[in-house]
Amino acid sequence: MRAERSSGEAFQEVVCLEYHDVSDQAGPPGGARLYRLASLEFEAHLRSIQERHCHICHLGGGLPEANARPVLLTFDDGFRSALDTIAGVLERFGWRGHFFIVTDWIGKAGYLDRSQIRELAGRGHVIGTHSCSHPERMPGLDASRLVREWSESREVLAEITRDGVRTGSVPNGYYDRAVAEAAAEAGLETLFTSEPTMAVRNVNGCLVRGRYTLKRGMKAEVSGAIACGAGWPRARQSIAWGARKVLKGLLGETYISVRKRILQHY
Ligand SMILES: [Zn+2]
Repeated sequence: MRAERSSGEAFQEVVCLEYHDVSDQAGPPGGARLYRLASLEFEAHLRSIQERHCHICHLGGGLPEANARPVLLTFDDGFRSALDTIAGVLERFGWRGHFFIVTDWIGKAGYLDRSQIRELAGRGHVIGTHSCSHPERMPGLDASRLVREWSESREVLAEITRDGVRTGSVPNGYYDRAVAEAAAEAGLETLFTSEPTMAVRNVNGCLVRGRYTLKRGMKAEVSGAIACGAGWPRARQSIAWGARKVLKGLLGETYISVRKRILQHY
C-alpha cells in the first residue's frame, strides 16, 4: 500500500508499533513504569498480532512489495530486557525487532552493554540510535548539537555492530523538522517519531514515520487491532496526541515538569 504525499512522491505505508521495556520487576515509580510491560502481557500482545495475520517486517530485510501492509515492531531506550526477554519472544514468533539505543547509557545498570548489542544485531534484529544523551526535548537544541546527537551515536553503534546504522527514533515524543534535518545530515535513512500516524514524510532523504505507543495495562488486542490497521485504536491515540500537543503548546516547559510531578505519584 502506498501513501501519496503532497510532493507527489509515493512511499510505502507501514504500521509501526512502539514498545519500551518488558520486565516482571515492579521497578521505581514514575513515567518509565508506564512503558514496562510484564512478560506475559507482552506475549499476549504478540499473540494478538499473530492472530490477525499481520505482515511483520524489519528494515534489515527490506519492506516487501505486498498487498498486506507491513508492520514494524520497535523498542526504545536499550533496556537489558531487549536481550533477556524481548528478542527470544520475538524469535519464537519468527519475527525480528528494531532496538533503539541511547549510547550514553550503554553498559549502565539495566541497559544493554556493547556485547549484548552486538549479539542482538547478530541475531538479525535492527539496531538504531535513540540519540547519545536522550535529551528531554530535542526541538530547540541548536543544529550542531542535534547533528552530534545523531551522528556520534550512529558511529558508536556502527562500531559495535560492525555494520551501518541507518535508522533512529526520537526520544520523548518531541519532534520538529529540524530534528529530522539533523538526522538526514547524520546519514539516517529512517527516523521514527511517537506521533500516532501512518503518514510518511521525506525530509531531505530521511523518511519520517510515526508510531503507535503500547503501554502497560493496555489490552493485548490493541496491538493486534493497530497492527492490522483498525481505525478505532489509532483514532483514540491520535485524539490523545492532539490534546497533549495543545497542552504542550499552552504550557511549554511547564508541561514537562507538571507531567513529571504527576508521574512520580503514579
Ligand atoms: Zn526514550
